[in-house]
Amino acid sequence: MDIDKKKCVGCGNCHVVCTMGAISLDADGRSVVNQEECVECGTCHRVLRNEGYPPWFVRAIRKALAPLKLGYLADADICPTGALTPPELAMPRLLRAQFSNPTVVHPGTGVPGRGTDEIKSNDVTGRLCHGEAGLVVEVGRPGIGARFRDVERVAMALAPLSPHFEHENPVTLLMEDTRTGKMRPDILAEKVLSAIIELKTELEKIPVFLEVLEKVQREIDTVISVGVASRCLADGTIPHEKWVKMAGYRLSPNGKTNLGLGRPLFKEATT
Ligand code: SF4
Ligand code: SF4
Repeated sequence: MDIDKKKCVGCGNCHVVCTMGAISLDADGRSVVNQEECVECGTCHRVLRNEGYPPWFVRAIRKALAPLKLGYLADADICPTGALTPPELAMPRLLRAQFSNPTVVHPGTGVPGRGTDEIKSNDVTGRLCHGEAGLVVEVGRPGIGARFRDVERVAMALAPLSPHFEHENPVTLLMEDTRTGKMRPDILAEKVLSAIIELKTELEKIPVFLEVLEKVQREIDTVISVGVASRCLADGTIPHEKWVKMAGYRLSPNGKTNLGLGRPLFKEATT
């Protein structure tokens, strides 16, 4: 995100809404974006209405009120002068927006945001079969974000366990080699709100995957959150439950039924 210094009146409203704490007041009393930390999520520009005042007008009001010990305070949900300016982004920086801005569609998947349907839509897509476990590893969260070098570190730690990285996943699409988890070198310094590694494995391998994740999370400069999924059996049993418990974790089971999404796109295996 860019801030037009000619327009900015330093009200500070954008500082509070920035998902990465990347905006601060410069020595000249106008705001500035730390471009290294900004993930191009567009939140500041989206949530603050442009009140459209000319900057000279706001500054004149402030000057007039100052002798009376009064201040001009813009409402919290506006940028009074429309100083926030979304830049034209090119690769590799464009990845920041593709992974962080929920209004940007990822070209590889056709899905907005971090660009994955995840295993949540399995009742329609049938990507996960009986006997399989799906792992969703989110690297980074709002407030801390993640650089692709950390995403690569997690993917490379998991790769020796021979996971099946989901093909239609934005992180997999950026891997040079899905056997090693190595990612494109030109993107490693790019920072995003979070990136989701999605993989399939056998149910009984869940404990060893969780053990590796436990170890690698101490070696990276951000946080990870992990979701485990499997297809419920007809009697309501959750197949991955015992394996997750065996690894020493407590489960918070969630289910999702995609009502209204129509017929499944797959045929159930009969053998
Ligand atoms: S909200 Fe607008 S005017 Fe206020 S500090 Fe941010 S960019 Fe400047
Ligand atoms: S685009 Fe997002 S990260 Fe960048 S300055 Fe705006 S809110 Fe902060």
